[in-house]
Amino acid sequence: MPASAKPLGLLFALIALAVGIFFLGQPRPKPLPPEWKSLEIYQRTITRNEFETLLNTVFTTGSAWHDAITLSEMKATIRVGRSPADGLFHLHFSSPDTPATPSPRPWRSTRELPPPSREKPLNGLKIAIDPGHIGGAWAKMEERWLRFGGGSPVMEGDMTLQVAQLLKPLLEKHGASVSLVRSSNEPVTQLRPSGPGKEAERQFYRTAEIHARARLVNETLKPDLVLCLHFNAEAWGDPTQPTLIDRTHLHLILNGAYTDEELFLPDQRLAMLKKLLSRTHEEEILVGSQLATTFSEITGLPPYQYPADTKNALPVPNQPYLWTRNLLANRLYDCPVIYLEPYVMNSTIDYPRLQAGDYDGIREINGKPQISIFREYANAIAQGLIVQNLKQPTF
Ligand SMILES: [Zn+2]
Repeated sequence: MPASAKPLGLLFALIALAVGIFFLGQPRPKPLPPEWKSLEIYQRTITRNEFETLLNTVFTTGSAWHDAITLSEMKATIRVGRSPADGLFHLHFSSPDTPATPSPRPWRSTRELPPPSREKPLNGLKIAIDPGHIGGAWAKMEERWLRFGGGSPVMEGDMTLQVAQLLKPLLEKHGASVSLVRSSNEPVTQLRPSGPGKEAERQFYRTAEIHARARLVNETLKPDLVLCLHFNAEAWGDPTQPTLIDRTHLHLILNGAYTDEELFLPDQRLAMLKKLLSRTHEEEILVGSQLATTFSEITGLPPYQYPADTKNALPVPNQPYLWTRNLLANRLYDCPVIYLEPYVMNSTIDYPRLQAGDYDGIREINGKPQISIFREYANAIAQGLIVQNLKQPTF
C-alpha cells in the first residue's frame, strides 16, 4: 500500500461524515403514496393550457384548488396530502408545439371502436348498466320509497332495474356487449349496516355499496361506458303522504364541479385529477349530448335547471340538459359515466305511468296514448347510442 493512501483515506472519511451530517439536518422528502404514483402514466399527456382550462371550466366550482395545485409553464406541483409537508407530485406538461403522448386509459372512446354497420351500430361497445339504488326490501332504508293512498309503492331501485333489464337486450341486438352492475334487488356489497341509525345505514347503502360496485366495474367488467340509471324526484315530504307536483324534466350528469371543500380532501383531489387526465370528460360530452338530444326528442321532457344558489352543480355550456356534479358513483368508476335523471316520480305527469307498470303496446294514460314509461326510457337510451355511433363512418 503506498504511503499516501492513509491520509487520503482519512480525508474521504471526513468528507463522507460532513455530507452525512448535512443530509441528516435536511427534512427527508416523503415517499409518494402509491395511489399518487398511478398518476405517473399521465406525464406529458396534457398542455398547461388544456389542464388549466379543464380545471377552471369543468372540474372546480371555486378557486381554492390554487392552494393545492401550483402551475408553472412546465409543470403542475400538487400537494398529495393536506399540507405541503405530506409530499408533492410533479405533473409535467407537454409542450404546445410537440404532439402530446396520448393519455393511457383502460376504455375506448366511441370514436376508437371497430366501424359500426347498419345492423350492428354498437359493434364492439362494452357497456355496464348501473341500476341506481337497491330497491326491494332496502327501498325504505335508502329513502327511495313513496306511496300515494292505495297505490302500489314507488321504489326507484326496482324501477331502474326494470329499465336495465329492458335496455340490455336492446343494446345487445345492436352489437354491444352489456353487463348489469346489479341484477337483483339485493346489494352488491357483502357489508350490512354496522348498527342502528341513519348514519350506519347511509354508510352501507351509499358508501359501501357504491365502492363495491366501483370495484366490480373497474376490476372485473372494465367497460367503455357506464350508464347510471335513475328516476328523478322532487322533495316529497312524508313518504306515506307524498307531495305531488305538476312538472317533469330530464337532466344528465357528467363528472366535475368539485367544490373547494372536496378538493381539500386528498382522495377527492386525486380522483379529480385522474378523471381530468384520463379525458373522460370529452367522451362524456360526446355521448351525453347525443343521448340528451335523442332522449328529449323521444320523451318530450324539458331540461331541469338546478336552483341558482346550487353550490355543487355546474351547467355545461350550450347543453341545456347536461350538468357536472361530483357524485360518488361518477367519481369512482374509471371510465366515462353518464348518469341519467329523467322523469319525476312524484309528478302528476309521470306517477300514473309508473303505476301502470310495464306493458306491451300503447295505453291511454292522462288522456294520451303512451308506451310504457320503462320501455320509453330504455328505447331512448338505445336510440341515442345508436345515433351517436353511426356518426362514425360505417362499412
Ligand atoms: Zn336515484
